[in-house]
Parts: sequence; structure tokens; C-alpha cells
Amino acid sequence: MKALVYHGPGNKAWEDVPDAAVQEPTDVVVRVDTTTICGTDLHILHGDVPAVTDGRILGHEAVGTVVEVGDAVRGFSVGDRVLVPAITKCGRCEYCGRGMPSHCQTVGGIGWIFGHLIDGAQAEYVRVPYADTSLYAVPHGVSDRQAIFLADSLPTGYEVGVLAGNVRPGHTVAIVGAGAVGLAAVLTTGLWGASKVIAIDTNKFRLEKAIEFGATDAVEVGPGTVAEVTALTDGLGVDVAIEAVGYPETLLTAASLVRPGGTIANIGVHGTPVEIPMQDMWIRNVTLTMGLVDTVSIPTLLKMVAGGRIPAEKMGTHSFTFDRIDDAYDVFANAAANQALKVVITPS
Ligand SMILES: [Zn+2]
Ligand SMILES: [Zn+2]
Repeated sequence: MKALVYHGPGNKAWEDVPDAAVQEPTDVVVRVDTTTICGTDLHILHGDVPAVTDGRILGHEAVGTVVEVGDAVRGFSVGDRVLVPAITKCGRCEYCGRGMPSHCQTVGGIGWIFGHLIDGAQAEYVRVPYADTSLYAVPHGVSDRQAIFLADSLPTGYEVGVLAGNVRPGHTVAIVGAGAVGLAAVLTTGLWGASKVIAIDTNKFRLEKAIEFGATDAVEVGPGTVAEVTALTDGLGVDVAIEAVGYPETLLTAASLVRPGGTIANIGVHGTPVEIPMQDMWIRNVTLTMGLVDTVSIPTLLKMVAGGRIPAEKMGTHSFTFDRIDDAYDVFANAAANQALKVVITPS
């Protein structure tokens, strides 16, 4: 089979590799019908994730068809359409038991193993461990182009942003950074009845998308950002400030927008320390949350997509076939300049 193989920082190749095969009785093999690229894949290619070594197949998001089933698998059969989520879970360990499979002890101490600790989904086929507890059947009426964004970006925006931020009816919400994950938070914030969803970004295209995705206000980043958001919230600041970039400045912007008693929900993947102004924050009863997605909201999100409440397909702005996966990476790596959100990659 062919797959996208990592060969050290800056190097990857779409090349021939041994076929994916069942190794444990709890495995299945899935033919990849649709996959996509995550910001984390770009971090890997920059050499920021040393656990990913030369020879690893990249990718942790797929929609596909089961083609081989291990002897112990009960919930899936050959021919089933499935969503392969970013997080793999045994379903039985301490953290799976707490609903936190992002830290599944059985699969490696972290639930994100595809394209990280084991071979991933940017390939013609992928081996899926613990298939019964990890895979989700794709309901009729949900297309591959919708389901693919439920593997990672939508659950991340929803769980680490909207749910961790504790958005409730009537709340005002600011989303700092309207890239794919920020827009996933925009798409799912409305489910909780936020009265205002304020998208903040430097890029006009992304702000237009944010309005299209359900934001009530768009604020272009500038010296007046905090004043503008404060004015939109009757001088109070927002109930929930969601950070979806991962830089010190953007986290501090989120912190400066939140009202006393509010929540800062950090989604961004940070690579450097952040000096947090605790001297100002402690007295304002602010909560700061952060985390790796668990993807446990996927069943809920699949129902909301099937019911027409979340237009997940809008996340996909560009389409490529496997043989053009290098072009897909180039477009995604310069997403803002290319007016791209997420790319959709299919066999043909
Ligand atoms: Zn990801
Ligand atoms: Zn587990």
C-alpha cells in the first residue's frame, strides 16, 4: 500500500510501505476513504514532536471502510463505514473509566497514538487498535466530508473550548483565533445558546467564515481589540474567552477579555512558557482550563451533524487526491494566505 511517511524534520514522502494488517485480536484494518491534515502534523514536520520517529506514517483523522476484523472484535464487521478518531481508547483503564481517554494508560499513556506512537491514517489503509471502544459507526445521512472533521477538529473546539469553558444560555463568548479549531468552537458554541459569539483574528477571510459559521460579531485584531470586545459586552467583558491559537499573546488577549467569574478555555497547542498575570487574575475569580481532546463528544456531534444542526462540511475548503498530498500540505501550511480551513484528501 501507499502512505505518507515521516523521514525526520522537513521530510516526508508518499511511498510504498508494507500493508496494514491485524496484529492483535482487538484490531481492525480500515481502508481510508477520506483523511485530512491537522496543525499537529505540521508541528511534527517542524520536529516539535520528538516521539515521532523516522518511518512513521503520519495522520490521525480518517473516515473509511472496515476491510479486516480481529477475532475479538464484536462491534464492527467488514464493510462498515467508520470514523477513526484522533484518540484511541481501551475503555477499561483508570483514565478511560473517568471519561478521559486522552490519557488512556493501555494504549501508551496518551490516547493520541495514530501518526505519533503507531502508524497513522494518511495512508490507503490503517490498523486500528481497540476497535470496539475506539471506532464510531458513521450514521446514514452523514457524508465522509462531514464526518472527517469529527475525528479531531470539531471535538477539540467543542470539548476543550465550549464544554471546558462551560458556555451556558445567554453567555457572551469570545474566540481568539478563527482558524480551523477556533471555527469549530464557533460552529458548536451556538448549541449552548450563547447570546454573543465574537470571533477575533488578524485575517479577514477567517472572520468572514466565522460570521458564516454563526459568530454574531467579528473583530479584526488591533490596538482597540479589548475595548471593542468590552463595548460589545456592555463594558463587562465576556463570560467565556476561548483561545485557539497557542501563542503567549493570544492567551493574554483571551485573559484580558474575560469578566470577573468568567472562564478562559485554552485550546491552543503551546510551545513556549507563558507569563500569566496572576496578580490581576486571582482577584477576578477567573477559571483557566486547558487540555487534550478526549473525542468523547463524537456520538453527540454525529447526531447533531445528521440532524442538520452542524454544517461540518463547511470546514473543508480544498480537496486533493492521495497522489497530491504534498500539495495538500503546502496549502494547509499556508492556510490563511490560501483562504484554506481544512483540506479533504481522498484516494481518487
Ligand atoms: Zn489533530
Ligand atoms: Zn484506557
